[in-house]
Amino acid sequence: MTLEELGWSPTLDAAFREHADAGLVPARIAVAYGATFRVVGVERDELADVTGRLRHDAQGRRDLPAVGDWVAIKATTIAGGRSTIHAVLPRKSLFSRKVAGDDTVEQILATNVDTAFLVTALDRDFNVRRLERYLAMTLESGARPVILLNKADLGDQVDARRLEAGRAGLAVPVHVVSARANTGLDALAQYLEPGQTIAVLGSSGVGKSTLINRLLGEERLATREVRDSDHRGRHTTTHRELVPLPGGALLIDTPGMRELQLWTADAGVSEAFDDITQLAANCYFTDCQHDSEPRCAVKAAVEGGTLPADRLESFHKLQREQSHLEKRQDTLAQQTEKKKLRTTMRAVRKYYETKDRT
Ligand code: GDP
Ligand code: ZN
Repeated sequence: MTLEELGWSPTLDAAFREHADAGLVPARIAVAYGATFRVVGVERDELADVTGRLRHDAQGRRDLPAVGDWVAIKATTIAGGRSTIHAVLPRKSLFSRKVAGDDTVEQILATNVDTAFLVTALDRDFNVRRLERYLAMTLESGARPVILLNKADLGDQVDARRLEAGRAGLAVPVHVVSARANTGLDALAQYLEPGQTIAVLGSSGVGKSTLINRLLGEERLATREVRDSDHRGRHTTTHRELVPLPGGALLIDTPGMRELQLWTADAGVSEAFDDITQLAANCYFTDCQHDSEPRCAVKAAVEGGTLPADRLESFHKLQREQSHLEKRQDTLAQQTEKKKLRTTMRAVRKYYETKDRT
């Protein structure tokens, strides 16, 4: 594959110059096995270890490579030896979550995702609140969210739900599809251009695996045949979490990525609740919580019927979770958070810039 086919960009090219001068070559992380990584590049698909120096200088998990990352590697000259990863290039997006049981340790799920398909199903599992969470997470990550209403073949209130999803997403595109019946998927071609990286998120049972199999087309079948005749062991030789799709796009499908937990999505929350944020500008008190304060524009909108009461409710719920999480984080985590918030604000700005262009 060429670097462009792997998602290389002029921005990365500029960021890589100093590493090129140092004799390093670019590669992208395809799988993370703890401290060892599988990297792919031009005529390159191999294992690589992080240098002691990079590990030593890292202040947190974020400073180390994750699936989707572009890294600068020094190729090994020893037969059977491993390449070494010397630097992680700047990311355009990052998905992370708190580690179960420990609110302050972060796990990086995927980086450099261009478009995240937020899948929800048009059956009894349809849940606009859950969709809002995925939306907040995605806005926070810096990736572009696209809502997919799957199981259109079930025909359940398609139009009403499209409207509801549209309201949750506001300016975010919504596509009605059926992964099983293979309808509506042509509309996704615009997000699947060569070199584009996508991810598929959503709750269990909404049809993510079915959709991914559709996107993989014949490829997955082909892969399986290769695997069956491959006696070297499937995981070490063919397993990838950065998967090339037949049309030239790349899919990131790491364990944990399909179902995200809230880490913090502070800036993301206010973007996902754009309508409430805008109304709040007209509240009498600048720090109005839209609860019991007088002259609250948000509550007035609910009473006037222009803002659904349950939307305000889910806004409050997400905010409560947010502050709960913040209280439980120690100082170290807060420092990381501050850094992260800056990145987020940059990402949100970038999101709106790209949105303005399309
Ligand atoms: P995941 O948990 O999100 O990966 O969901 P799966 O892809 O495993 O799908 C869950 C169930 O929904 C399976 O029984 C699928 O066959 C079914 N399913 C997926 N897509 C569709 C669809 O478009 N229409 C219908 N009716 N069922 C679907
Ligand atoms: Zn208010």
